Amino acid sequence: MPAILLTNDDGYGTPGLRALQVALEPLGDVTVVAPDRERSSASHALTLHRPLRMRKQASRQFTVDGTPTDCIYLGVVHPHDRKPDLIVSGINRGLNVGDDITYSGTVAAAFEGALLGVPSFAVSRDVGQGEDYSAAAELAAEIARQVLSGGLPRDTILNLNVPATPPRGIRVTRQGKRIYTQSVDERRDPRGGTYYWIGGQPTSTTSGPDSDLAAVLEGFAALTPLKLDLTDDRTLELISLWPLLADARASG
Ligand SMILES: [Mg+2]
Repeated sequence: MPAILLTNDDGYGTPGLRALQVALEPLGDVTVVAPDRERSSASHALTLHRPLRMRKQASRQFTVDGTPTDCIYLGVVHPHDRKPDLIVSGINRGLNVGDDITYSGTVAAAFEGALLGVPSFAVSRDVGQGEDYSAAAELAAEIARQVLSGGLPRDTILNLNVPATPPRGIRVTRQGKRIYTQSVDERRDPRGGTYYWIGGQPTSTTSGPDSDLAAVLEGFAALTPLKLDLTDDRTLELISLWPLLADARASG
């Protein structure tokens, strides 16, 4: 049986993670290592400046007082565990499309898996229509079967986003763009100090028709391949022509 490691960024015990676990248990030996509290928007943070505590919650289920990336690191590198054959992160409450990806602890956990050499993918479901994650979990199981048999190219992950309504199918997509309102809510605490709530709501999209968000808005699940190498080839060529780099070109 393959070893499958699960995590998320919404925290241990959340319904998305539970649904994922139930769907993947027929495919392998499932271990859960998840944050002990909500760590959404933790991105790819790694805890290096304080100790981490890992607590056993049930058979093969652990919480960590750290980030989703900490959970994957412990789950893969921990000396007492066998290295997983597959990592799945989710099912996140809310989409991770467009620029959301750079904030997402769910997606970062999959990237950490890829960095550690394990085929990995992330799963997110749109909010709304209650908390029924069964359709997203079934799709995740299909993707898991495929990745377990065929693997993934090194340093890439898959990002699966599922609409809240039962998906009409699945599309292979590109990372799109979602525009948020920009908001800073300034308030006073009881002692007269100022505090802030930051972050707005999604308003519009500049995504093309082949984007992750367009697919989900049309009722399809979106499957996007993402890579760790963030180099932009077009800009690499452009900045190579900058005058300040003329000497480097001449000596190059
Ligand atoms: Mg989350």
